[in-house]
Amino acid sequence: MALEFLGGLFGRRNQLPTDQVTRIPRRAKKAAAVATAGMKDTLTKISALPGIADVGETKRLPRGFFALVDEFLAHVDDYHAAVRSQLPDVSDDVVRPGEPGGDGPCHTAPLGVSTIEALAIYRHVRPWRDFQSIAQRLGELGEQQFKDIQEGHAGKDPEKIRLGSRAVREGRVRYAQRMQPCPFLDPKKGKCRVWEHRPVSCRMHHPLGDAATHRPNHEGYPQAAQVKNIRLPVKIQVELQQLDKRLMLQVSPFMFAGTLQLLQLSEGQMLQEVGEAPQRMQQDGQVVQKANRNVKHAAKFKKKKKKRKK
Ligand code: SF4
Repeated sequence: MALEFLGGLFGRRNQLPTDQVTRIPRRAKKAAAVATAGMKDTLTKISALPGIADVGETKRLPRGFFALVDEFLAHVDDYHAAVRSQLPDVSDDVVRPGEPGGDGPCHTAPLGVSTIEALAIYRHVRPWRDFQSIAQRLGELGEQQFKDIQEGHAGKDPEKIRLGSRAVREGRVRYAQRMQPCPFLDPKKGKCRVWEHRPVSCRMHHPLGDAATHRPNHEGYPQAAQVKNIRLPVKIQVELQQLDKRLMLQVSPFMFAGTLQLLQLSEGQMLQEVGEAPQRMQQDGQVVQKANRNVKHAAKFKKKKKKRKK
């Protein structure tokens, strides 16, 4: 145990760039104080929503839940922008994970995803026409990542591996070096398909310098990758953990596994808010898409044509 702890402190050579710790100067914390207060307020509002602790049973989120998660993520972006403005080597035009040209870190599989983030991601991706193949990919990659982590685990119980352990750290590097892109990355455009809902662990990561050094197949990876990771203030991280507990869904902090757990919890359905009309599903499990009423052959245009003829 003690050796593992020391290894954790001093053996940082083989850790992912996303796991590096960036010290946030006091002046940056001051500059971001309004955004920090906004995050805290929004989390308090989410925590106070009626029925927030019963989602596991009701399979319904309280009314207004998803709007509040969006509000929280907007404060997170404000927080990052305010801190960035105080860090001399990070400009606003840094190419972030999920932007074209910034897909290097999207080979690492996000970790540290809170339940509210996972719920927002699931809600966004469930209606996709290709959701079935995405879910399959999430399962395959999640399993691979678990195997890569287990490979370095010396304990008796393969299920009991501490998140901060060397096995997890090194297993995640091994996994990244397989160069499997995140299933939410659009391979043609090189863009994140869940951009508005991507987790904080992707938002906080700011790759610097040569983009090639952030690709896990680069010869100097991971040490050569220069980064700034703008983590949320500790008190906000604690609030998020408390909210996880309050929701009682025990969603995995690994994004791939967490999304699949929500698929299981919802029995394949959409997770909707109280008061929302149920989303219709097709027999093949796809969510029925709303008809596009602006196409040429839409009924409303046909009616107009008929009237003109008369
Ligand atoms: S969620 Fe988006 S930004 Fe994050 S790793 Fe996946 S594709 Fe990249």
